[in-house]
Amino acid sequence: MSSLPHILGLRCRECGARYPEEPRYVCDECFGPVEVEYDYDVWRDTVTRERIASGPWNMWRYADLLPVDGQRAVGIPSGFTPLLRADRLGQAIGLKHLYIKNDTVNPTFSFKDRVVSVAITKAVEFGFDTIGCPSTGNLANSVAAHAARAGMRAFVFVPSDLEAAKISAALVYGPTLVSVDGTYDDVNRLCAMLADEYGWAFVNVNVRPYYSEGGKTLGYEVAEQLGWRAPDHVVAPMASGSVLVKIKKGLDEFKTLGLIDDRPTRISGAQAAGCAPIVTAFKAGADFAEPVKPNTIAKSLAIGSPADAPYALRIFRDTGGHADAATDDEIIAGIRLLAETEGIFAETAGGVTVAVLKKLAQSGRIAPDELTVAYITGAGLKTAVVLDGHLDAGLHIKPTLRSFEAALDATHQLQI
Ligand SMILES: *Cc1c(COP(=O)(O)O)cnc(C)c1O
Ligand SMILES: [Zn+2]
Repeated sequence: MSSLPHILGLRCRECGARYPEEPRYVCDECFGPVEVEYDYDVWRDTVTRERIASGPWNMWRYADLLPVDGQRAVGIPSGFTPLLRADRLGQAIGLKHLYIKNDTVNPTFSFKDRVVSVAITKAVEFGFDTIGCPSTGNLANSVAAHAARAGMRAFVFVPSDLEAAKISAALVYGPTLVSVDGTYDDVNRLCAMLADEYGWAFVNVNVRPYYSEGGKTLGYEVAEQLGWRAPDHVVAPMASGSVLVKIKKGLDEFKTLGLIDDRPTRISGAQAAGCAPIVTAFKAGADFAEPVKPNTIAKSLAIGSPADAPYALRIFRDTGGHADAATDDEIIAGIRLLAETEGIFAETAGGVTVAVLKKLAQSGRIAPDELTVAYITGAGLKTAVVLDGHLDAGLHIKPTLRSFEAALDATHQLQI
């Protein structure tokens, strides 16, 4: 069925119907989402810690576990980002063993480079020459960059109220950028129609089952970087919920393959209060999320109708995790807290994660000695505009010693 020995094909996540490996995202039988199905026996025979550890210093060290031919990877190598002990942030919020997975340092400064790497490699395998996406910003940056390097044509679709920095961070790579007067959910619907109409690969639409698997590397890496063990608790931001679900899948696969001990990991999710359909459903004990109209500064997380909500909700229940939301003010405070304690400048999604991490720690939902990993998924310069008026502006002086001393005196007087 497949040219790759470890892939059996696609399988419906709801009814189990099987399909060949092809560009497809919904089941013809029940309209449920489809997922890549692997042959675990092939993995058991080939995948070892040693083989992974001898691989390249990027996400392709896990190529055996991804639904593409890793030898033919296209785009820009991404991943294997630092996992940092965060003692100062931990102390500030009451956690003794806190780590930050710093995914701000990917080629286009967000974790989207992981999922796009897999999607574009698969699109080339399938023979597409044009690649596109509906995006809340970071995905457009990543698709445009990877397409440039692969020599493919790119069409990226974004809501027209996006931050200016995210627009230039896509345009610089030379895609056709289409600003749509509507929400992300409107853009997404349009792109589903265009994928059928034009026969292009839309990374998170018709190649979504392959795309989303790139998120597993965020689970694999953390386990490997902790010295081949699973964390006790992780906190990740959610837009569609896809990456959170795949972090769990990555950890589960490592446990199934015996690469790490089968210790439980609690998975918690973070959303912005202005777009929190998954958190609202979690708190109501619901199995599905009701769509909302987003209104938040965390534009990268502004998906009102999240495709993976039912799977994320199941994960919170099954693992004993939680879901909570952060207001715009809490998001800004979260960005500042992370920067001031750990020297990492995150975008608004990182502010959401840190704000929710803090709430969960201070309410005892994360115990002080749980080994906890917070996923920081995107870099701060692209959303720096949200900090306008919130930071101490510093001193403004003439280029003389006297002027500096006078200004310094004035600040001391202010502090007294
Ligand atoms: C897209 C994005 C997310 C969330 O992704 P989902 O998989 O849709 O939940 C989180 N953080 C950043 C920075 C993003 O760009
Ligand atoms: Zn089905």
